[in-house]
Amino acid sequence: DGSRFWGLFAARKVGDEVVEFVLDVTQRRKAEAALRDADRRKDEFLATLAHELRNPLAPLRNGLQIMRLSSPAEAPVQRTVQMMERQLGHLVRLVDDLLDVARITSGKVRVERQVIALREVLARSIEATHAAMEAKQHRLQVDVPGEEVHVEGDLDRLAQVFSNLLSNAAKYTPAGGQIRLHLAPQPAEVVVSVTDNGIGIPAGQQERVFRLFTQVRDHQSHFEGGLGIGLSLVESLVHMHGGAVWVESPGSGQGSRFCVRLPRVDGARAGSGRHDAER
Ligand code: ADP
Repeated sequence: DGSRFWGLFAARKVGDEVVEFVLDVTQRRKAEAALRDADRRKDEFLATLAHELRNPLAPLRNGLQIMRLSSPAEAPVQRTVQMMERQLGHLVRLVDDLLDVARITSGKVRVERQVIALREVLARSIEATHAAMEAKQHRLQVDVPGEEVHVEGDLDRLAQVFSNLLSNAAKYTPAGGQIRLHLAPQPAEVVVSVTDNGIGIPAGQQERVFRLFTQVRDHQSHFEGGLGIGLSLVESLVHMHGGAVWVESPGSGQGSRFCVRLPRVDGARAGSGRHDAER
């Protein structure tokens, strides 16, 4: 916006003809403060919106459950109730993601620090996403070594990380595709990868997918809903666990691999039980 740009400059006359434009520092500071203020209000709005949207969902869910249990076993009624429950579940997940974003931005998310078996984390994530994969007849291959691998962190939050990656793999892979969950332990760390043979991500857009509210433009034809929140949550949660996440995709149409690296807890410490809140 040109007028806003020129507003940052002050005109100063030097001589009869010449006008010099100098950067007006006060104006720039004002503009920066206004931006910070707008950003803060956006975060507050997001938090309020998510709360307000969340509140009516619990009674709706209970109501549907009552309808399912007490309505006649007529197929059309039961099917409608089931459809409503599925859609409501989708809405609950979206709103929960929004709430998480609001909490993470305001620094209100705490992750527990316990020694946990990665196998349990992955089992939970598979359980949470397996219906979505089954619906599209995907084949899930799980490669987890025999040895127990432990990490320090929050079981629910780590399960959320891998559920997000698995459900994205299901979402962005056409029916009948292959998804592979692989755990590669190294002495001090472990890399978990989720690989699919789906629509892939164009080279120039791979870094962008972790940004909040960002979706790959070419993927709109495959759109199954979503707000572009999941991967930004994944990244924040992985960072909170001292890890890193990245994507490797040969390009459009050639599948994607999302990798998460986490620091590993050595076997002796893992064996000695829980380690709460050490940091
Ligand atoms: P959402 O899935 O709700 O759009 P995410 O933050 O989880 O949000 O993902 C951001 C974008 O990254 C998606 O919109 C999609 O374009 C791309 N993406 C994520 N996972 C995959 C995948 N496994 N294969 C291809 N593209 C993906």
